Amino acid sequence: MEYERRALEQPLYGSVNVYRIGDTLVDTGHVAERSRMELRAALEDGALAGIERVVLTHPHIDHVGGSQTIPELAALPHVVFEGVPPLITDFSGYLEAGHAEIRERSAGLPGDRSAIDESYFPLDDYAEDDIEISRVVGDGDTVRLGEYECEVLHTPGHSEQHMALWHADSKTMVSADLVSTNGHFMYGPLHGDVGTYIESLERLRTYDADRLVPGHGPVMDDPTARIDDALRKARAAEREIERAIETAEGPVAASDLAREVFDADDATVGFLTLVVCEYLEHLAEEGELSVSVGEDGVYGVA
Ligand SMILES: [Zn+2]
Ligand SMILES: [Zn+2]
Repeated sequence: MEYERRALEQPLYGSVNVYRIGDTLVDTGHVAERSRMELRAALEDGALAGIERVVLTHPHIDHVGGSQTIPELAALPHVVFEGVPPLITDFSGYLEAGHAEIRERSAGLPGDRSAIDESYFPLDDYAEDDIEISRVVGDGDTVRLGEYECEVLHTPGHSEQHMALWHADSKTMVSADLVSTNGHFMYGPLHGDVGTYIESLERLRTYDADRLVPGHGPVMDDPTARIDDALRKARAAEREIERAIETAEGPVAASDLAREVFDADDATVGFLTLVVCEYLEHLAEEGELSVSVGEDGVYGVA
């Protein structure tokens, strides 16, 4: 599969990929100004001439931004996964609910957590009602990326409405945000889930891909090793969180687990506490432990 990767700058966490595959644009970058200006420049200088359609891998703010802020992109026919339309046509509502979740989980943490809230998840006016959604797809459907016919795989975990796209002839998997650059489970507000993340990784592994085309960072040429690494890290994180809880005397806060298990420092403890909360919810669902949210909003575990 021939594709052209564009890494757009985004707030806080490096860059986000937008791919041009023939007449198709896969994802449209972060909603923040710096990302959208880069994309707009590429549209204006002709680098993206001939783009006639957009495929969105999942409804996160760093993947749908151009569709919400650049009218010429919003007007192109969009292909999205089941459950995405109500989110991207009321993105302010989605973000407000996401903010509330982040606030609940990160209240009580030391320091100013507003960086997580306001620069990465800005509450802004988007052209959200104007996105032209032409097709909603589900698992097993076929989606065209340029000249390539790809199979849609529902791959929840990082986001419930996440799809990967499999091109069998070239053994290429557009894996978007399922397999992160560092192999760790990444948190997306409201619709993340460690249990389905692990199941999706296991499913992806069975495709025996030659390359993964990710949402962030360079293309990965060693898919099986990357997927195995991600699975190992997820299972190790579960075990270490359980062990830390067992050895703690009495309830322990999620932020303390982030420091202990993920070596969080003052700069990263906010985000990693959110990740720990996802693991805790998964362990609680499996009946491994009980989790409560204290008055300060920090998850307590017993
Ligand atoms: Zn994402
Ligand atoms: Zn992303």
